[in-house]
Amino acid sequence: MGAYADFHRRSITDRDAFWTAEARRIDWHRPYDQVLDYSRPPFARWFVGGETNLCHNAVDRHLATRGDQLALVYISSETGTEQNFTYRELHAEVNCFAAVMAAQGVSRGDRVLLYMPMIPEAVFAMLACARLGAVHSVVFGGFAAASCATRIDDARPKLLVTADAGMRGGRAIHYKPLVDEAVRLAKHPPQQVLVVNRGIDRDFKPVPGRDLDYATLARQHAGAQVPVTWLESSEPSYILYTSGTTGRPKGVQRDTGGYAVALASSMEHIYAGKPGETMFTTSDVGWVVGHSYIVYGPLIHGMTTILYEGLPIRPDAGIWWKIVADHRVSVMFSSPTAARVLKKQDPAYLRKYDLSSLRHLFLAGEPLDEPTHRWIHEAIGKPVIDHYWQTETGWPILSLAPGIEPAKVKYGSPGFPVYGYDLKLLRESDMSEAQPGEKGVLTIAPPLPPGCMSTVWGDDERFVDTYFRTFPKQLLYSTFDWGVRDAEGYTFILGRTDDVINVAGHRIGTREIEEAVQSHPNIAEVAVVGVVDAVKGQMPLAFAVVKDAARIDTPAARAREEQEVMAAVDHQLGGIARPRRVYFVTLLPKTRSGKLLRRSLQALAEGRDPGDLTTIEDPTALEQIRGALSA
Ligand code: AMP
Repeated sequence: MGAYADFHRRSITDRDAFWTAEARRIDWHRPYDQVLDYSRPPFARWFVGGETNLCHNAVDRHLATRGDQLALVYISSETGTEQNFTYRELHAEVNCFAAVMAAQGVSRGDRVLLYMPMIPEAVFAMLACARLGAVHSVVFGGFAAASCATRIDDARPKLLVTADAGMRGGRAIHYKPLVDEAVRLAKHPPQQVLVVNRGIDRDFKPVPGRDLDYATLARQHAGAQVPVTWLESSEPSYILYTSGTTGRPKGVQRDTGGYAVALASSMEHIYAGKPGETMFTTSDVGWVVGHSYIVYGPLIHGMTTILYEGLPIRPDAGIWWKIVADHRVSVMFSSPTAARVLKKQDPAYLRKYDLSSLRHLFLAGEPLDEPTHRWIHEAIGKPVIDHYWQTETGWPILSLAPGIEPAKVKYGSPGFPVYGYDLKLLRESDMSEAQPGEKGVLTIAPPLPPGCMSTVWGDDERFVDTYFRTFPKQLLYSTFDWGVRDAEGYTFILGRTDDVINVAGHRIGTREIEEAVQSHPNIAEVAVVGVVDAVKGQMPLAFAVVKDAARIDTPAARAREEQEVMAAVDHQLGGIARPRRVYFVTLLPKTRSGKLLRRSLQALAEGRDPGDLTTIEDPTALEQIRGALSA
């Protein structure tokens, strides 16, 4: 048995000893009494009775040994800013932020919603919440006001932290007006909004009595020392909302101790980073990758982390490689979409910079197609490791683990089950284990390992119903992904089993987009499907039935209506969910029992055979779809 296979086996068969060893990687204020309490399946409580704190482990713990080492390097190619913070400076900033929040009454268990661009204050605010034992919920800055409002109502934050604006592609995105609208729409709005004013929005107007200026308060609290609030291992560290098949996003709740251990362990075994080195993760703090591998993971591991605001191709397609060279990055983490964007640029940019410090490039978030995998591997001359995970798990499910065994990359595959995960690939027909080469549903036999979601925020039942009820006879966590294993055990991901689509690594429920399309007053019915896109992996397409056909009786009127529907989606969900096209039809393909033939619709939109249509109610619906697509 190979070193990694043995390591994985021990993590399952000798769970307590395995995780006891891994748990030594972090500081415990009080030792735990029990490695795992699994007395209430499928709820797992890791390191029961132990007390720890994410901020202490990410910041304070390093002061004695690496106080003068860089902890955070902020680079914005949008504003031309670069700012460095040593661990000591980060500690001071986080204490100040925590003091400002504590003065507003934020304390243990309170929720704080962060709607932040990629600025150092986003990291300070997250760590400050962790320091106070408050639960942060970061909402990606690309989400629209209505999406932000739903998350406010679910999390009920005491405080909302935002900035005047973010920047993307040279354009300012004004956050504060979005927050104002979200607060207006919410039924349970926070009483206070703390604003980091970057001076980008010249028309910035604070709401008197509600908005607080961070810079003013920070001056009052400069030099403050805020003691760490020790949390029991299972107390929540954060909530992160993610899409599913319903229109209502789920709040993925993360614990404290299990997460810290999983991240610390993954930094060593999977990412093979060394304390003192630099990690560059190109994601956003609004996504799980940002939480785990921009903020907590590298800092817990004593690395320098890079926070980058900007695009991969501005000022030119060499910017990321310049960062790697300038900062001697040893671990880089990005997305397949970014790789596909770079693939379209002049390859000379890749040869221009010294990438000798780089050990591995990790990619995740969406399927990595074989040609792109091969291209980027050859272009940078370093192992490119595709790894697979979900917001729910917080760290990888499938990966290679070069920290344990040198990576043997197979193009198109995210590798093997990560230690701690008891993965089963099950046939859909009878739920028996799929054989090599046979497609199955990727499932995890609980207990889920440390670091994975502990429940759906405020809704234990939804946690069980959503993830553990796919298989009637066995308690198994469904990833909702299809997979297949080859004879050597490499797993390949074949797409989702549900109606979730993945646009440039961003997961969106088609149901959510349908609801947003329907917010347009002239839409009677709509079906949204994801179709293959050469750069973004997938893009949504909408097929809509209008109420008043007179509004779309000329090509110009149709085009106008299409734009309006897209604007409605931008307004409800944000630009990332905007359909590539909205086609108007008078009928959607449905079965006689009224179920939408979504797979057929998707197949037609991708130019494939629509499959079995014996159950279709009215075949003319398909003719309309074909006609619309070819028009
Ligand atoms: P999210 O929670 O937004 O990160 O989305 C998770 C989903 O993205 C997974 O369930 C997969 O469908 C997809 N995904 C993530 N990483 C990969 C990967 N390496 N290969 C294929 N699909 C992936």
